[in-house]
Amino acid sequence: MRSSGDRVGKTLMARRGRPLTSPAVVADNDRRLERRVARAAEEALAEHKFVSPIDVLCGLGWLHPSNVERWRRGRPACLEDVVFIDPSRIATAIGLLQTWAGERGLEPSERPYPAGSRTQRELRFSAADEAELERAYKTHWLSPDFNEAERARLTEREARRPDLVVIEPLKDFICSVCGVERNGLLIMENPGPVCMACADLDHLVFVASGDAALTRRARRAGRLSAIVVRFSRARKRYERQGILVEEEALERAEADCLADEQARARRRERDALRRAEQDLELQERMAAEIRRLFPGCPHERAQEIAGHTAARGSGRVGRSAAGRALQPDAIELAVLASVRHRDTRYDELLMAGVDRQTARAQVGDDVTSTLDAWRRAAPAIRASTLDQS
Ligand SMILES: [Zn+2]
Repeated sequence: MRSSGDRVGKTLMARRGRPLTSPAVVADNDRRLERRVARAAEEALAEHKFVSPIDVLCGLGWLHPSNVERWRRGRPACLEDVVFIDPSRIATAIGLLQTWAGERGLEPSERPYPAGSRTQRELRFSAADEAELERAYKTHWLSPDFNEAERARLTEREARRPDLVVIEPLKDFICSVCGVERNGLLIMENPGPVCMACADLDHLVFVASGDAALTRRARRAGRLSAIVVRFSRARKRYERQGILVEEEALERAEADCLADEQARARRRERDALRRAEQDLELQERMAAEIRRLFPGCPHERAQEIAGHTAARGSGRVGRSAAGRALQPDAIELAVLASVRHRDTRYDELLMAGVDRQTARAQVGDDVTSTLDAWRRAAPAIRASTLDQS
C-alpha cells in the first residue's frame, strides 16, 4: 500500500509536468507545498478520520467549499475550473497527498461522486481526460481506525444526491427547450437554461427562507422539492432564497406548524393572495371544460386542476391564450400534467435524479391509461340513472 501510493503520486507528477523554473526553486516550492499538503491532510484526518484531495485543495485555500457545492450541482462541469491554480500544481499536490498518506499507512478507497440531480453521470474533476487523474481525485485515504459505522455513514452521505437547484435569474432568459423568452425561475441544464414549465416544475410553490421548521416539514412532506437561489452581485455568490415544494406538502407542513401564530398569519396572507390571484370565473369555465372532455375525472379534481393551471401569474398553460380560450389542446395539457405529477411516480423519479425524458417515458403508459379511463368513463351518477331507466 505504501509503495502503491508513492508510485501513483510520482507517475501523476511526472505526467502533468512541472513548471518551467530552475530546479532549485522548484525543489524549494515543492518542499513548501509538501508541508502545506501535510498540514491540510492532518486537519482533515483529525476532523473526519479520512482525507480526500478535495479536503486538501480546500485546506490549501485553492478551492472554496461553496464552489465544491456548485460543482456537485452540475456547474461548472469540471472541478478544476474553480481551482485557480495551474493544473500541474494541483496534480503535484494530489501526488504529495498520496505519498503522505502512503507513508502513514492510510487505506486508499475510491469513492463515488454522483453528478447533479438531473443526470446519472459521475462528476468530472479535470478537463484533461485522464482516467488515472480522475481516480486519484476520487481516492479518499482512510484512517486505520475508520470503523464500520463510519464507513456506513460515509456511504450513506455519498449516495445522497445534491438538491435540485432552481435559479432566480437577474434578467430575462431564453428557455433552451421551448425557445420562449422568460422572466421566471429557471433550472440550468445542458445546453442552457430551462423554464419551469418545460422542466415540469411549474406545479411547485415557493416558500421563502426564514422559517426553518416550515421549510423542513414541507420538504419532508413532499416527493419533489428544489432549492431556489439568486446570484448576489455584491457578494459574488449564489444565495438561497427559499424552496419550491408541492402545494399539498406545504399545506400539510403549515397544518403541522399551525400551533405557531406566525404560521397562521402567513397562511391567512397566502390564502388572500391566492384568492386575489385566481380568476374564479375562468376557473369555473375551465373546470366545466375538463369535465366535458374527461367525464371520468372526479369533480373535485377538475376544480383543482382548473384552479391550479389558471392561477394568475403562474405562467401555466391555463394562463396562456389557448388556455384562456379553453382550447382542447391546452386543457388536455393541463390535465396530463396533473396526472403525471399526482397519479404516477414521475416526481419521485425526477427527485431520484432520473432525467426528464426517461422519467416521462417510464410513466407514459400510466398517464395514458388514466387519461383514457377519464375520457371513457361516464360519471357514477349518470351510470346509475341509466340503470334505473
Ligand atoms: Zn421552456
